[in-house]
Amino acid sequence: MTSRNLSRRAMLKTAGAGAVAAVAARGVAAGNVISAAIVGQKPIRISDIKATPLKTGTVIVQVFTDAGVVGIGECSPMNTAVVAGFVNTALRPLLVDQNPLGIDVLWNKMMFKTYKLGPQGAQPEAIAGVDIALWDILGKVTGQPIHMLLGGCYRDVVQLYASIGGGGDIQPERMVKRVEDALANGFKAVKIRMDWGPMRQDRDPGKDLEMYRQVKAAAGNGVLVGFDANNGYSVSTAIRQGRKFEELGIYHYEEPVAQFDYAGLAQVADALDVPVAAGEHEYTRWQFRDLILEGKIDIIQPDVVKCAGISECWKIAVLGSTFNKMFVPHQTQPTIGTVANIHICAALPNADRPQEYGGAKPELDEIFVEPPVVEKGMMRVPSKPGLGLEIVDAKLKKLAV
Ligand SMILES: [Mg+2]
Repeated sequence: MTSRNLSRRAMLKTAGAGAVAAVAARGVAAGNVISAAIVGQKPIRISDIKATPLKTGTVIVQVFTDAGVVGIGECSPMNTAVVAGFVNTALRPLLVDQNPLGIDVLWNKMMFKTYKLGPQGAQPEAIAGVDIALWDILGKVTGQPIHMLLGGCYRDVVQLYASIGGGGDIQPERMVKRVEDALANGFKAVKIRMDWGPMRQDRDPGKDLEMYRQVKAAAGNGVLVGFDANNGYSVSTAIRQGRKFEELGIYHYEEPVAQFDYAGLAQVADALDVPVAAGEHEYTRWQFRDLILEGKIDIIQPDVVKCAGISECWKIAVLGSTFNKMFVPHQTQPTIGTVANIHICAALPNADRPQEYGGAKPELDEIFVEPPVVEKGMMRVPSKPGLGLEIVDAKLKKLAV
C-alpha cells in the first residue's frame, strides 16, 4: 500500500503505533513503567520466565515481557531446587507468549494444568512466585502500587510482630534474651514459636509454660505476646495450656494441635477465649473454607509465598472477611514475600493486627536497588508501581546457586 492509498483511519493507526513505540521506549527507560494507554493499544506478551535458587535458600522468579517490563516474585523455599524446577519446567511453558495482565486466566491455567502435581506444597509454592511477578508487572504497567490494584490503602504503615523461633530446643532464659533483643529493636509485639511439628506431641508443656511466663514478664504490659505451639499439643494439653496462657495474658494462640486435626482445633477454639490462629499449612481457598468451617479458628494465616500468590491470598482474605475472621498472614521471607504481604494487608480493612516478621536477611539486600526497610517494628507500605522493588540482575546472578 502506498501512502497515497492510506485511509485516514490507517494513517492515524500507523502514527499511533509509532507514538506507542516511542512512549514505550521512554517508559522503560524511565523506571520500567509504561502507561495504561499503551497497554490498551498493544497487548504485551510474556517472553520468558526464570526461577533462580539463591545461596541464601531463596527462590526468586522473574517474568520477562516483550515490552521490557520485568516482574519479580518469590516462592516458598522449602526445597529451592524442586520449586525453581517446577517454575522453569512446568509453569514456564504454559505462560510464555501469553498476556501477563490476564492474571486470573493465567493463575487458573497454572493451577489446573499442573493440578495433579499438587495442590499442596511445591505446586502452589511455585505458582506463588509467578503470580506475585504477574501482579508486579500489572503494577508497573499501570503505574500503580499493588495495594491500589487490590482496591486501595487502609494504612500507610503496617506494624509487625517479631516472630522468634526455636523454643522447643532452648531454655526459657535464652528465649527471653531473644525477645529482649527484638524489643530493643523497637518491636511492640512478639510471638514465640516452639517449632516442633506434629511429630512431637506434648513433649514438655511445663517448660513451655515457664518460657511463656518469663517472656511475658520480661515484655511487660505494653507488649503484645503470642504463642505458637507449632502443632505440638494434643487437644487436652492444648486446652489446659491455653487456659494458663489466658491467665497470664496472651494475644494469640497459634497452631495448638496438628494441622490436619480440624476437629481438634475446633475443640480448642471452642474451649478458650484467646483467638486461635492457623493456616500456614493450607494452600488454597478451598482448604481455608474447611479450616474456617470445621476448625473454627479465629485468625486466618495464609502465606503468600505458599498459597499460590497474591491472587489466591487475596481470595482467602476475602473469604475470611465473610466469616468475620482476623487476617494475620504467615510470613518467613523478609524481602519480596513480606512486601507482597504488606500490599495485601494495606488493602484489607480487617488487617489491623501486627503482621508476622521472621527477621532480616541482610545478605539479600544487595540484590535490590532499594531493599525493604523495617524500622522500629514497622514497615511503610510501598508507593512505587508494582511491589515497589527492583532487582539488580548482576547481584542476583552472583548469589545464584
Ligand atoms: Mg506458625
